[in-house]
Amino acid sequence: TPVIGVLALQGDVREHLIALAAADAVARPVRRPEELAEVDGLVIPGGESTTMSKLATVFGMLEPLRERIAAGMPVYGTCAGLIMLADKILDPRSGQETLGGIDMIVRRNAFGRQNESFEASVEVAGIDGPVEGVFIRAPWVESVGATAEVVAEYDGHIVAVRQGNALATSFHPELTGDHRVHALFVDMVRAAL
Ligand code: GLN
Repeated sequence: TPVIGVLALQGDVREHLIALAAADAVARPVRRPEELAEVDGLVIPGGESTTMSKLATVFGMLEPLRERIAAGMPVYGTCAGLIMLADKILDPRSGQETLGGIDMIVRRNAFGRQNESFEASVEVAGIDGPVEGVFIRAPWVESVGATAEVVAEYDGHIVAVRQGNALATSFHPELTGDHRVHALFVDMVRAAL
């Protein structure tokens, strides 16, 4: 059984732990480099990417995370987590760092403000039937490089991308009872064991 961490610096950690357990992984929070070293894959939750970036720096996690992602550890980011996995942000706050891993350019808060949050059905490559996507101050992906694969679009915008062992969605499948996206990620982790 794969052991999958959820980066627990900030964001909706608990919901991901529950979704991963439902998708037959052993799930645990990860805050320190020693904990990161013990997991087979990692989820980066939704939350606030500038805060997450600051806390990753303060907790000495930025470089360990970059190194493991660059070494091919399977990683899945939702919303703020998608922003963390982008090689480039269009409108970063000053000092905002990303981990990188996916050759894409991301626009933060692209779908609007908190009160413009919405739910929509999204077709995701590799999953049968639509997934209910919860979009909360969600980013979209402005463009992807040649090695990144678009796996979902909504309203003409890229909302899910995969590149090698890295997966990212603008929306939050962990906030619905549907664990198919987490199951897809658990399969990616299993394949990399
Ligand atoms: N807008 C947030 C950010 O920039 C992301 C929102 C979310 O994760 N739900 O980090």
